[in-house]
Amino acid sequence: MSAIFLIKTGEVLLKLGNQREFVHQMKSQIRNRLGAIPHKIEEYPGRFFLEVGEENAALAEFVLAHCPGVNGYAPVMVCAKTTEAILAASVAAARHEAESFGKRTFKVETRRSDKSFPLDSYSMSSLAGETILSQIEGAQVDVHTPDYVITIEIRERAYVYGPTLPGPRGLPSGVSGKGILMLSGGIDSPVAGYMMARRGLALEAAYFHTYPYTSIEAQKKVEALAVKIAAFCGGIRLWVIPFTEVQMKIKKFAKPEAATIMLRSAMMEAAHALALKVGASCIITGESLGQVASQTAENMRVTQAPTTFPVLRPLIGTDKEDTIAIARKIGTFDISILPYEDCCVLFSPEHPVLKPNFHEAINAYKSIDLSAEVSASIKNAEVLRFYYSDVLKDRFGN
Ligand code: ATP
Ligand code: MG
Repeated sequence: MSAIFLIKTGEVLLKLGNQREFVHQMKSQIRNRLGAIPHKIEEYPGRFFLEVGEENAALAEFVLAHCPGVNGYAPVMVCAKTTEAILAASVAAARHEAESFGKRTFKVETRRSDKSFPLDSYSMSSLAGETILSQIEGAQVDVHTPDYVITIEIRERAYVYGPTLPGPRGLPSGVSGKGILMLSGGIDSPVAGYMMARRGLALEAAYFHTYPYTSIEAQKKVEALAVKIAAFCGGIRLWVIPFTEVQMKIKKFAKPEAATIMLRSAMMEAAHALALKVGASCIITGESLGQVASQTAENMRVTQAPTTFPVLRPLIGTDKEDTIAIARKIGTFDISILPYEDCCVLFSPEHPVLKPNFHEAINAYKSIDLSAEVSASIKNAEVLRFYYSDVLKDRFGN
């Protein structure tokens, strides 16, 4: 037996100029994620059908629920092209909606591309509607705002399916190029990565650590977060960047109240170098306006000065509660709240000034000159690769 899913594409189709490229990307994203799992994809305007072995149904569903560009998906019943078989499948699909979700009102829609089928679309829909009404208690037809729609498609085979489940929507991974995600162990940056993965960015993550002042456990936490983000972007490299030398120099030469902002500027300088190295076109942070002292507009002007790449801050206008809700949804929250130290806290306990003088701050940063230490940090970075197979292992075990 095989399991079949209908896949609806959304925004992908709005990008008329490069629709072909987008559709191609989405298909190849699904293929790459399924990897060695045997599957078949059939393409129709605005939608695909994915067929896998029954034993891989849960895995395929996971892939579709996490693949940006997928607007929605639905398990499909494939049946013999006979009226009886189609009616039985329609009733089963309706029963599922009624019993699992308490839905009552419905309508049936039929598409018949095989004109040799004896009933026309209208007659097939009416007959299926009557059959559902007679077999499912409490069911009611509502053609305008039904609780659910049962769709029948009659082609080389007959397909019956209920409402689609939500996909991530957005754009297929990679169509917007590549970004450097500054990934700490906190709540915000993984969510920022997820949001930009949904806008079609492939991601490389950069994590700055201050070993031995920060622990291996702190790094393990970031690795676990990287796997969760990889579920959306298809795979990710994590650059574990040693920043002890940089922080030591800042501690030695900077005024204590300037240290936090200098460290942020140095991270940005390193992220810029990494972006050049891997061909990324933007840098992503989890900053949110005013959340902490280093995230005032004035301080962001200083911390972003070392880069000419756009610094994308998808959470800039987001409330913490909303960010936490997303973190829970994507499975990063429980990892983020594990109690391990952050490098910034260790070395920069002073509160930074909220409104620095831009030119003074920049000059102070330049006068310390961290370029040698920053270059060395990138050169000495450890690169960890997380593939989609790691994502599947994380979710389903071996
Ligand atoms: P988060 O929850 O993402 O850690 P935060 O609210 O704790 O964010 P900060 O610690 O001020 O805020 O960090 C702001 C942003 O700077 C983070 O969202 C992240 O993008 C980046 N950042 C901070 N520390 C690190 C680090 N050690 N490695 C990589 N990026 C970092
Ligand atoms: Mg943090």
